[in-house]
Amino acid sequence: MFKLKVQDYFSAAHYLKNYEGPCENLHGHNWKVELVVEGSQLNSSDILIDFKTLKKILKEVLTELDHKLLNEISHFKNINPSSERLAEYIFKKVKNKLSSYPNVKVKEVTVFETEKSGATYYE
Ligand SMILES: [Zn+2]
Repeated sequence: MFKLKVQDYFSAAHYLKNYEGPCENLHGHNWKVELVVEGSQLNSSDILIDFKTLKKILKEVLTELDHKLLNEISHFKNINPSSERLAEYIFKKVKNKLSSYPNVKVKEVTVFETEKSGATYYE
């Protein structure tokens, strides 16, 4: 098996409902996102998928979140835009965009709220 990883960033604001602590107030993060995909079948160039393609797909998904108040995005109307839920959201969006690459499976997405704290979603 092979695993590929790409990382990218976005800046956005959020607040958490039903949470007691500083994150209940509106504030922003420079979020780091790590996407990991896997597969065993390499193409004729001996690569799983071009890094450029992976980066482009991740960028497309993150552009929709960049410089937004995440709580106002329809997906997060009724659930908190926590790192956990953001990782889940990005995972499903990327999975959808990778559906034309049957040899590539999304393994996990990690969303880092700070350099030291991140949440991972996988299925
Ligand atoms: Zn926060």
